[in-house]
Amino acid sequence: MSEEGEMLPISVRAAAGAPYLASLNAGQRAAVEALDGPVLVLAGAGTGKTRVLTTRLAHLLTTGKAKPWSVLAVTFTNKAAREMRERVEKLLGPGGGGLPWLGTFHSISARMLRTHAELVGLKNNFTILDTDDQVRLLKQIIDAEGVDEKRWPGRQLAGVIDGWKNRALTPEKVPKNEGFSFADGGGAKLYAIYQARLKILNACDFGDLLMHMIDIFQRYPDVLENYHKKLSHLMVDEYQDTNVAQYLWLRLLAQARKNLCVVGDDDQSIYGWRGAEVDNILRFEHDFPGAEVVRLEQNYRSTGHILAAASHLIANNRGRLGKTLFTDDDLGHRVKVRGVWDGEAEARLIADDIEGWRQSNRSYADCAVLVRAAWQMRAFEERFLMLRIPYKVIGGPRFFERAEVRDVHAYLRLIRSEDDDLAFERIVNQPKRGIGEGTVQKLHAYAGKPLVRFVTDNGPLFDQDTGEVVTEQPEPPGGATRFRTLIGAAREMVVTDDLPLKARTALRAFLADLDRWREQARTISHVELAEIVLDESGYTEMLRRDKSPQAQTRLENLKELVQSMGQYDTLEAYLEHVALVLDIENETDSENVQLSTLHAAKGLEFPLVFLPGWEEEVFPSKRSIDESGEKGLEEERRLAYVGITRARESARISFVANRQIYGRWQVVLPSRFIDELPSANVDAVSETGYGMQPPGVRDMAVEPFTSSYQSPGWRRAQERGAFQGKPPMIEGEARLVARSGGDDSSYKRGDRIFHQKFGYGRVSDVEGNKLTVQFEKAGEKRVIDSFVIPASAA
Ligand code: ATP
Ligand code: MG
Repeated sequence: MSEEGEMLPISVRAAAGAPYLASLNAGQRAAVEALDGPVLVLAGAGTGKTRVLTTRLAHLLTTGKAKPWSVLAVTFTNKAAREMRERVEKLLGPGGGGLPWLGTFHSISARMLRTHAELVGLKNNFTILDTDDQVRLLKQIIDAEGVDEKRWPGRQLAGVIDGWKNRALTPEKVPKNEGFSFADGGGAKLYAIYQARLKILNACDFGDLLMHMIDIFQRYPDVLENYHKKLSHLMVDEYQDTNVAQYLWLRLLAQARKNLCVVGDDDQSIYGWRGAEVDNILRFEHDFPGAEVVRLEQNYRSTGHILAAASHLIANNRGRLGKTLFTDDDLGHRVKVRGVWDGEAEARLIADDIEGWRQSNRSYADCAVLVRAAWQMRAFEERFLMLRIPYKVIGGPRFFERAEVRDVHAYLRLIRSEDDDLAFERIVNQPKRGIGEGTVQKLHAYAGKPLVRFVTDNGPLFDQDTGEVVTEQPEPPGGATRFRTLIGAAREMVVTDDLPLKARTALRAFLADLDRWREQARTISHVELAEIVLDESGYTEMLRRDKSPQAQTRLENLKELVQSMGQYDTLEAYLEHVALVLDIENETDSENVQLSTLHAAKGLEFPLVFLPGWEEEVFPSKRSIDESGEKGLEEERRLAYVGITRARESARISFVANRQIYGRWQVVLPSRFIDELPSANVDAVSETGYGMQPPGVRDMAVEPFTSSYQSPGWRRAQERGAFQGKPPMIEGEARLVARSGGDDSSYKRGDRIFHQKFGYGRVSDVEGNKLTVQFEKAGEKRVIDSFVIPASAA
């Protein structure tokens, strides 16, 4: 940021030699000064693309080429828009002549649509539905159309429609063959009904914000012309992630004056799964002939080792334009790669690092933990809470606040205590079991009061939810049953005729489930209980049937939740813990460690970046590869590139040797992306000595991870005699010592072996130190050879 520009009045800075220009390199300056005509800046991470946009905005204003209200700048997140606004204010000084249109495609479109709503049959005060509302509405439509909602869930349809909207397809334009992707051909029809219903409700969803504006631009040339007159310059950040609808929207707005400047990096295109088209970059020069194309190669963000590691990794992608990056910065610290025993150990390691960083007088806010999937946050959040490290989750709820996690807790609370009416209400019809709002209202009425009320010490009643004191004592319907719970009411009502037969039957079944679970809870562990509840309530099934990415995330979160419960001895202890965790929330410390998914961290930078969970199937994500093969893998690799390039001073990658899934330990392999890092820029330390020399680097001339042999972990491993092929021992802090990976295994095909967890089996394939074993009981598994012993020695 050009600090030197802050003190001067705008008029002085308007000169050609404006100080903010002095802080740019030649390429950046070219892009900033090319104020007329189309400009494409195509450059790698940290080369100052966002800086170019902000400075260009300032330049437009100071030179008088544009008025604040005539510039429209699109960022990818609202957070980025805020940051850009701050940067511009810093350049121009506060109140530097009004503010330009700055925001995401959605926020800008929403603002436009408020002015023209009536052209698409909406009122100006239309509601923007969130995903939950959207899904609820779709369910109603699916039901009303006589489609089996169990087979064709609303959430899935929401995803399908979203996909169409990303490609700017109205119901009429959905290609015939694609209509079949939902409800055997009913998809497009349901979509049309949905759009009609939205109009009646005076509502639109996220995708509509753009779709409606495109529609208006196309059908009302005078409206579009007005925007052409008004908006002299358009700019777009993170251009590689625009989808077809966004592209059309932009092209329509820019086509008259063609003053459009876009910046992007094909290597950071990470929203292909949401319909982003990296081809938009390639198409730019075609659609805007004569565009000035600027390439930037100097990275100003990261130190040498970090940049080299990221560049080397991304070079493994075939589908890329390819570019070079350099930095004048020092080499700095090598990228750390560390292996630990399990997820808890990983959380401990990272939290300890953060504490160390803080003790050296650095700020918590400088640290970011970037994960591939939301479920990974749980271990870190718990560790941070325990150590009282303030943190915040970028762009999402914290783990224990997620809807599915709260649902499970509600089930468990209700099993523990029948009095918990709030829990009852939350899950009585979740998943759907035919106990609708009407039934719940009748239960309330029967229980004789709208909410649970308590007698305080002095006598009066107060409302548990609001704290409101109720002075009028309701007439108790039957002496001591005055405070009948909803479950109590339900038990009585299922034997009366007050409820419709269907609801009564459903309620009876639900009560029977609850009773059975409560009975079981006496004898089984709370982890097993949670598994049973998720299974028998139909909750897991509900999510499984739903093929949307959100449902998959929810399933993963639940798996993580169940496995984490094992750390507590009892259900009581666990629920107590949860209550406390939720209580600590909202500490108003602005000095927070940033916890984020890799996706949400795009465009941001932090001095210290942790990248945990670099294991096969976690990262690259199994789902991406299953669904999109090589293309999916390349998108995962771009995500890894985004992750590493967020770091300014230090990047620390980690992976674990074991993950617990539904209470069972599974051996996991380090991510292939770790193999792809250049040894010269990496410092590898393994607590476990496990998987540090994967097949990919075995044939390198230099020993790739020499330094790991000097590490305490290795020395400990040697002292403990871990190199003798014994089965691993878990000691004290659950630390595993195993012998070095990488050497060809001493096992060969056909050997009979024994594994502590999986039992006896026969080796069917050997790859380096990884064995494929046909276990007699556990089936085929891939294991590291140090985890097994010859059957004869067992
Ligand atoms: P990404 O691809 O991750 O979005 P980017 O290309 O947008 O990165 P910026 O965020 O604009 O990069 O810049 C990265 C860092 O480098 C910022 O801290 C920025 O202030 C700094 N920077 C950019 N250009 C220069 C320059 N010419 N001189 C000094 N610092 C610069
Ligand atoms: Mg940027």
